[in-house]
Amino acid sequence: MDLSERIMHSRLEGKTLRQLGMEFALSHERVRQILVKKYSSTKTGFSQSEVKKKLHVSQATLARLRTKNLIRPRLQGCWLLFSEMDMVRIAALLNHHRCPKCGRVKPKRSACCRRCSRSGY
Ligand SMILES: [Zn+2]
Repeated sequence: MDLSERIMHSRLEGKTLRQLGMEFALSHERVRQILVKKYSSTKTGFSQSEVKKKLHVSQATLARLRTKNLIRPRLQGCWLLFSEMDMVRIAALLNHHRCPKCGRVKPKRSACCRRCSRSGY
């Protein structure tokens, strides 16, 4: 295990940055930098599949928003990552296409989604 892996290991046990600093004879700021440098990709965004699941949005829609430069996911390692800000923006952009009753995506012109209108709301 290299240093950053050992630090991560201790971090997962719940130690604070300061405790880690003492353990590895580093400043807590240095510990933070090491963790951010090595592991930020797992921490700083949502993958495309997470965005799709959380916001009920299709891949095609995400691609369209990206082409229009409305959202700017970053490429980190092999991941395309969306920020919290992207999430908020996507949700806002899609809001008027959502069923007011269940939050699913609905056809533009109808008041609510097919499922809700079928079940007699
Ligand atoms: Zn609905």
